[in-house]
Amino acid sequence: MSKLTFNNSNPVFYTSLKAAVNKYFAEINKRKTGNIHLYAKAVILILSTVSLYAVLLFAPLALLPRILASLVLGFALACIGFNVMHDANHGSYSSRKWVNHLMGLTLNALGGNNFIWKQKHNIIHHTYTNIEGIDDDIAKSPYIRMCSPQRWVPAHRLQHLYTPVLYALSSMIWILYQDFEKYFKKKIVKTPLARMSAADHAIFWTSKVLYVVFYMVLPIWLTGWQAWLVFFLCMHVALGLTLSIVFQLAHVVEETEFESSTGDEQQIENEWAIHQVRTTANFAPGNPVISWFAGGLNYQIEHHLFPRISHVHYPAISKLVQAECAAYGLPYHSLPSFKAAVVSHFRFIRMLGREPILS
Ligand SMILES: [Zn+2]
Repeated sequence: MSKLTFNNSNPVFYTSLKAAVNKYFAEINKRKTGNIHLYAKAVILILSTVSLYAVLLFAPLALLPRILASLVLGFALACIGFNVMHDANHGSYSSRKWVNHLMGLTLNALGGNNFIWKQKHNIIHHTYTNIEGIDDDIAKSPYIRMCSPQRWVPAHRLQHLYTPVLYALSSMIWILYQDFEKYFKKKIVKTPLARMSAADHAIFWTSKVLYVVFYMVLPIWLTGWQAWLVFFLCMHVALGLTLSIVFQLAHVVEETEFESSTGDEQQIENEWAIHQVRTTANFAPGNPVISWFAGGLNYQIEHHLFPRISHVHYPAISKLVQAECAAYGLPYHSLPSFKAAVVSHFRFIRMLGREPILS
């Protein structure tokens, strides 16, 4: 584990915030986990995905409908990731542990691995958010410079142009390469991977083999390799772009802050919760369509402060979080629309692509 710590000796901001949020849940007398709206959404998304997959495998589709269906399938898989997998692996989908474990395996159905994700995301990303050298989310590729402490190379001058292409390839790279790299190196950036049990190893290999069977062997066998190639590439382009854009808008925009790990004993000036507020941004709050599809990931500030509360509650508690941030003189980065956040992200990426002036 990292030698980096937060100044948590007197976490006044988080203590006050938790009290306000707990009071809210006590008043409405509801669980912090998912509700009927979330479960209905999970059924809609999973049924849509299975139906699209069946159509792509068994219906005699022309090229254009095949491309469209594959793109929609990739988008639907990303939405399962945001709405079902993400909540479940944080333990917020249901109050029942076994339900969270089962629904967390939807990540493996997408081709990923829940064991690696829980460490990469729940522990490393949620603790050391935007800390260069530790947070894997800002270390996606040496070809994308996501914060100023990262080394600049001349290719970065064009990164605002080629980054969308890398985002489109990202889910393929993640599923077919990065998971195996983490598995065999037993490391996530510099953090050692926790010991995997025999069951964890078995789940890793079984789900990777099933990915090859369901996303490669079966479609090639039933539709031929050309139709499969269209399906596989289009599905991954939509999946990779959707996942990357939504996760990037939360932390890699002009408004958010970054830190750099020295690798030695190091203490961040602020308490953990203040670090989360400074390094995270919301987008398109109050847009019900985006909130529905993005699984509340447009309320990332609330998610980073309360990852064990289901995303269905974030619009309501965002008012409390905003009020507490204002009371403690802290920023509350919220971009008004999806478009504003996308523009901010690519403006930031373009700025980081310019050669740094060394002082
Ligand atoms: Zn999360």
